Amino acid sequence: MPSKEFLESYPLYRKFKVDRLPSQMNSFPKVQINMGCPTCKSNQTFVMTNDLYENCQYSNYPSAGVAFRMVYMCTHCQKFERLFFVKIDEDKKWIMKIGQFPAWEIIGEPNIERLLCEHSSYYNKGLVCESQGYGIGAYGYYRRIVEKTIDLLLSEVSELLTGNDLEIYKVALAKTKETIVTQEKIEIVKDLLPPILRPDGMNPLSVLHSTLSAGLHAESDEICLEYAQACREILVFLVNQIAASKSSSRDFTKSMRKLLDKKLQRGS
Ligand SMILES: [Zn+2]
Repeated sequence: MPSKEFLESYPLYRKFKVDRLPSQMNSFPKVQINMGCPTCKSNQTFVMTNDLYENCQYSNYPSAGVAFRMVYMCTHCQKFERLFFVKIDEDKKWIMKIGQFPAWEIIGEPNIERLLCEHSSYYNKGLVCESQGYGIGAYGYYRRIVEKTIDLLLSEVSELLTGNDLEIYKVALAKTKETIVTQEKIEIVKDLLPPILRPDGMNPLSVLHSTLSAGLHAESDEICLEYAQACREILVFLVNQIAASKSSSRDFTKSMRKLLDKKLQRGS
């Protein structure tokens, strides 16, 4: 703690809850991180080169409430540095990034952009809101994306189904067109998802459904951030998984056809 995940991907001003934090500044472990290096133009391992207690009066300074700096150096080029500024909660229940250089990266998802076309700016705005801890804003943008793309998304799912499953899905899909309420659309088809879209037996559409139904009008930025993140991750998962399955089944069909053609040629 601060963990790799926190440093690599957590946005600014969001509380990262922790079970236990070292009580003295010199007891924190130095974790390595893996992030992009613009000098090496690739992902590299970064190691921490400073001491967390460098600005404290003494090395075993109590950690509660302290704000500190972390300097990370690319182990490959030994030139490029990343900086993090982190604040510890007075009760040591959470830590929070309060600064980062280079800035928290907002990376678009090519498949999301393809699906969204003219709405892809919502996705980027959602990421910007998330990066600043504006949960209500982020949730609003992702929710809008789900509403705008749900029909397309659900119809793409049908391309992963065959036979009887496909017939049942088609009937349900037609029913989804009778309502304009996103949650109702999801409700109709959520139990018909193919196994490939249910990692570990979890149903992303069920989670999306409950996330959208949560009624967050009166909720805090913090709670909305959690829902926003869930919404975004489900969207990215569904879109990427559908794209990957489609392309792998295309490759499979192509290679099977090649084999069959060869067999036919030999036979004639
Ligand atoms: Zn480097």
